[in-house]
Amino acid sequence: MGAEPHQLHVVLFPFQAHGHMIPTLDIARLFTARNVKATIITTPVNASTFTKAIDTGRNVGNSYIELEIFKFPAKEAGLPEGCENVEIAMRQPGLVYQFFLATELLQEQLEQYLDRVRPDCLVADMFFPWATQSSAKFNIPRLVFHGFSYFSICAQELVRVYEPFENVSSDDETFILPLIPHEIKLTRSQLPAELTGDKDHPMRKRIETIKKSELESYGVIVNSFYELEPDYAEFYRTELRRKAWHVGPVSLCNRSVEKNTQRGKEASIDEQECLNWLNSKWPASVVYICFGSTAPSFAAQLHEIAIALENSEKNFIWVVRNNGKNDDEWLPPGFEQRTEGRGLIIRGWAPQVLILEHEAIGAFVTHCGWNSTLEGISAGVPMVTWPIFAEQFYNEKLVTDILKIGVSVGVKKWSRMPSVEDLISREVIETALREITEGDAAEEMRQRAKQLKEKAWKAVAEGGSSYSDLSALINELRSYHTQKQV
Ligand code: UDP
Repeated sequence: MGAEPHQLHVVLFPFQAHGHMIPTLDIARLFTARNVKATIITTPVNASTFTKAIDTGRNVGNSYIELEIFKFPAKEAGLPEGCENVEIAMRQPGLVYQFFLATELLQEQLEQYLDRVRPDCLVADMFFPWATQSSAKFNIPRLVFHGFSYFSICAQELVRVYEPFENVSSDDETFILPLIPHEIKLTRSQLPAELTGDKDHPMRKRIETIKKSELESYGVIVNSFYELEPDYAEFYRTELRRKAWHVGPVSLCNRSVEKNTQRGKEASIDEQECLNWLNSKWPASVVYICFGSTAPSFAAQLHEIAIALENSEKNFIWVVRNNGKNDDEWLPPGFEQRTEGRGLIIRGWAPQVLILEHEAIGAFVTHCGWNSTLEGISAGVPMVTWPIFAEQFYNEKLVTDILKIGVSVGVKKWSRMPSVEDLISREVIETALREITEGDAAEEMRQRAKQLKEKAWKAVAEGGSSYSDLSALINELRSYHTQKQV
């Protein structure tokens, strides 16, 4: 009898933020569904994001995902005990840089682990550039996961290399992204000031290091699908000369209600209650509003959103992460009584994919985090785009100018902590809500969004572009393993 064939083992190491951990869990599921063993590295405070979902997989007898817990060196980096997630660090100005320092201190534990376990591949987050060197020590191919669209990765790289923002005379004057097939206009104020100002800014240095490690890595794994952004899948590979595999939309690997509700945190609403509410509404009649896991909100802005929703007379589900604010600071008195029956506020965490995929949802007001954007696309829902920070302004352009499935509320400034001077007024919000739900242009956007949904599902089905790219990646990793043996 011949020896058992070697089972590939992929280790995934996500950045400690829900927008990175959630798609990583989905990617791990994609691997186990192809009989590849997957282990996710996390830290004690973040483990709960994975444990329940992993236990469910185990119960249904799938090849399951293992969890490896590293100690998070919060104290060593000068962070409060338990500050193991960037969302916690962002609540206090100044802690984010220390948070990044703490992640660098994980390198030693990673190397000990890789030495001991010797997996066949390490998928490490872009925020861990040092992981390329660590895995090279043990001849393990390292893949980078940004959690971005192809378009955003390309745009970010073009802005970094060509600095088109240097050619304008003010922060509000538009410049055009160079070299790409679409005419995309941005302003300097829509980019992080730390990347357009002082060349020695630590964040700028960090991005340089990330890009260098990306070039030295084995390749990049992208949560997107070819048919969504073919120009940029090509541009990234051909013009920017990166080796990349797209395997998304990864959220589509969750085919059950149970798995869709086990995304990220415990939902703050009973899923059945949520579904019953949606079942009572006409198709495409509800606006869903959610700004992801990290983007901050301020009371005056929440107040404007409330009034816009009330004046629009639309049905809505509104997710409010009010971070300890009392209702009376932001909610107009009597709002919930007046909107009873047509509006639902979820305070905390929503089962987002479950909601988006319901036929009652007609539009999504989103901060353009890539997971949310792609989840909206996968559900065939047109969007009102409201970017705040990170690479969200690029995702907005993809949605409004390239895919033409959204309208913008017109945010002018990139900011980790927007304040009253960045306020979007109730009138502007209400106009955007009408533009995305009423009239011929809205119908055209809805039709285009529906077509993209169909393409998304085809991409992940057997033989589809993402399915095939994952097969190609697994085959390459197999060959790599075989070559190592000879
Ligand atoms: N999410 C969710 N419920 C919420 C808020 C967010 O399930 O109430 C999920 C959402 O479906 C997405 C992720 O959290 O998968 C957020 O990632 P995204 O990239 O959109 O934004 P980020 O939180 O990283 O800014």
